[in-house]
Parts: sequence; C-alpha cells; structure tokens
Amino acid sequence: MCEACWELIAKADDDEFLDSLELTYVERKLLEELYKQGEDRIMEILELQGKALQDAIAELSEDALGDIGELGNVLLALHTSDVFSDLFEEAVQEAFEPLFDLAGESELLELDDEKIWNTGNEAAKEFVKEIRSLVPDMNQSSTDTLLRSFEKAIEEGNTPSERALLVQEISAIAATGEDGPFSMQRAQRVSRTMSTAAANGGKLEGWKQSEIAKGKKWRSAAGTRTRKTHRKANGQVVDLDQPFKVGKSKLMYPGDPAGDPEEIINCRCTMQLVLD
Ligand SMILES: [Zn+2]
Repeated sequence: MCEACWELIAKADDDEFLDSLELTYVERKLLEELYKQGEDRIMEILELQGKALQDAIAELSEDALGDIGELGNVLLALHTSDVFSDLFEEAVQEAFEPLFDLAGESELLELDDEKIWNTGNEAAKEFVKEIRSLVPDMNQSSTDTLLRSFEKAIEEGNTPSERALLVQEISAIAATGEDGPFSMQRAQRVSRTMSTAAANGGKLEGWKQSEIAKGKKWRSAAGTRTRKTHRKANGQVVDLDQPFKVGKSKLMYPGDPAGDPEEIINCRCTMQLVLD
C-alpha cells in the first residue's frame, strides 16, 4: 500500500478512536500532541536502530556476511541492547504515561468531580513495566523478517562477494525503506499499540478510582480491518477487575500490554463504562 494511503487510513482509525474517548477539546488536543510526540520519539529510535544495523553490517567480513548465524547475532545484539530498551522506556514515560494519566483523570472527574486523580498510583507504574515488556516481542517480528530476507540473499548469491553484496543491499533498504523494521509505518504501529494501551489502561484506572463503576463493556473498532476476535468481543460485559476473553487471550482492557501480542498490536478498540 502507498504510504499516503496507509497514513489516511491510519488517521481515520485514530480519529474514530479519539472520538470514542469523548474527551473535551483541550484534552483531545493534549492527547493528540502526546500521541504525535510518542510517534516521533519512536521514529527517532527506529532510525537510530537502522543506522546501528548499517554500522554493524559494514564491519562484517565477506565470510560473515554470508553466514546466517553471524547475521542473526548482529540482529540479536541490536534488538536486545540496553541503549534501545532504555530509549523505548524513556519514550513511554514521556508520552504514553502522561496519556494514561490524562485518560484516567478525565474519566474520574466525569464520574465524580470531587475526587482527586492519584498520580502516584501503582497502576501507572505497572503499565510502564508491562509496556516495556512488549518491546522484545515487537522487535522479534522485525528480526524474523530481516533474517528471512538475509537467508534468501545467501541462497541466491553464487559467490561470497555476491552474497555479501546482497546482504548489504537488504540492510541498506531496510534502514532507509518506506516499509520494514525501521520505517515510519512501524513507528506508527508501535505508537498506536502503546497509545491504545495507555488510553484504555488509564480509563480503567479512572473508573476504579471512582469507586462507583461496576463493569466494563468491550467496544470493537468499526471497519473490516478489526480482528475477527475483537469483533466477536464487541459488547462483552465483565466486572471491572475481571479480564475480557478475546480469542485465546484474557485482556483487562483493549491493548492490555500484559496480553498476547497477537491480540494487541495495532488494536483500536475501546471500552464503555457499566454503572450497575
Ligand atoms: Zn481491537
């Protein structure tokens, strides 16, 4: 899909998602700002990762470039390095934790304007911890994709220098390409996943702090791109402290980072409050 088309679709999904949160004008502007900030930070991190891949590839000998084991080690080092997990954590703390707080406080005040949002709450800390645990899963899929491309290149190359050249080309395209592991599309996917988690996680915490909310109802995103399992979950009502059953997963809220990545990545579902 062309980048512009993809962005238009993503924008429509995001607008619908933001509409469903029923925020005030000021809250919505702030939320959009945080969302953009998170996306930009993640894009910066992916660019740095792409650059680090290029540097690591440039240092490999011709032999190593034809050795899938060596290439696997390079990718593993890249995706498990503390530098990048620390950067991800920083991005989460700067953009997605405030988003969690914003969503929670707005729900709480809506239900009881005398209550004060507890910002030192454990739920926000737990959220940051859980979302951090998502990063290796997200990296894993891009490692797998790159490894498959490298494998193919090694099969196709007839001589060591041909194989090395193909591998270098693939990593260069990956590092700067429009799609692939270090692209804007991937940054959007990561930040969308995190913002869904933050908005819904914050909402749930706001309902809990209100002490009057009883249950929650899953509201699946409209449109044909919504997962079958999420459409099936539409309308499911459970107690506030019970998980939704979605596919084979149990999720406390749409995007719950403690859940199965296959049920949360790119999700744009929301929840509704149940008062009795
Ligand atoms: Zn969903």
